[in-house]
Amino acid sequence: MPATFASMPDLIGNTPLIKLEAASALTGCTILGKAEFLNPGGSVKDRTALGIIRDAEARGQLRPGGTVVEGTAGNTGIGLTLIANALGYKSVVVMPHSQSREKIELLDLYGADLRLVPATSYSDPNHYVHRARRLAEELVEKEPNGAIWARQFDNPANTDIHQRTTGEEIWQQTEGQVDGFICAVGTGGTLAGVSRALKGHNPDITIALADPQGSSLHNYFSRGELEGEGRSITEGIGISLVTDNLRLAQVDRSYQISDADALPYIFNLLRQEGLCLGGSSAINIAGAVKLAEELGPGKTIVTVLCDYGDRYKSKLYNPVFLENMGLPAPDWMRN
Ligand code: PMP
Repeated sequence: MPATFASMPDLIGNTPLIKLEAASALTGCTILGKAEFLNPGGSVKDRTALGIIRDAEARGQLRPGGTVVEGTAGNTGIGLTLIANALGYKSVVVMPHSQSREKIELLDLYGADLRLVPATSYSDPNHYVHRARRLAEELVEKEPNGAIWARQFDNPANTDIHQRTTGEEIWQQTEGQVDGFICAVGTGGTLAGVSRALKGHNPDITIALADPQGSSLHNYFSRGELEGEGRSITEGIGISLVTDNLRLAQVDRSYQISDADALPYIFNLLRQEGLCLGGSSAINIAGAVKLAEELGPGKTIVTVLCDYGDRYKSKLYNPVFLENMGLPAPDWMRN
């Protein structure tokens, strides 16, 4: 019998490009979303998790029974934990407790050794990234089978997997007929990897950043100052530092996107196009519309549909939460 059966890590990547009908009609462009929510862990971060684990294995840092430690807004932890289960590793996940209840419950269910920490600024030594680094340093000493700190913000294996897979897939799927790409930044791995792949094929493709309020990157790219104002309910995106992965990105322009502008896109997407997505996808689609308006009709713009909306039922899809955050909920959600 031919060996054509898949195992869990084989399910990661090769996601389809979906035409976003309303956004395309609005702009006269073809706006396409890379359906990353179809990865087995439900997000774009499965790719990063697999890339980092495979890189550590190749370097001999991780042996069967070894441990992967990471600080994460949730999705990388989910990907790492599922892949760890499939490949015979353990996972330790450090996460701010401000993240959605659903992501915390999933991590628990999947078997992560979950350490919830207060949501503090990056300069605080108790920030989840620093806590993860210290934990990994302790485990490296103790674990006979090896332990790694996945280090998604600065680990070049993150950009590398997006360059080799996400970016190449977009080029192949559009047969090179792509004029622009835009996405938000959590670690910068997606933006860096896809920008390098697409610019490598055609340097004229416009690469843009969609930045939520409260993040410092829009100001950084538009006037060189790392500062941000306001806040966003979106999870996993928006940062106030330039990571090693982001430094690898080739960015032509950037847009600041408010939640109030972005959220209607995914609320409409659910009710009119049957896709239930998370908040970072809303920022990405709103950004794609701005980029389309700037490039003009007839162009093809690709963005990323990062994760499923059901992991934000208690927040993004909860009218009481939205009201408390001063954000409008659509009528159908309130009834
Ligand atoms: N959307 C969501 C929901 C995420 O969790 C993340 C990663 N934290 C991103 C987008 C951003 O991806 P990247 O880390 O590649 O910048």
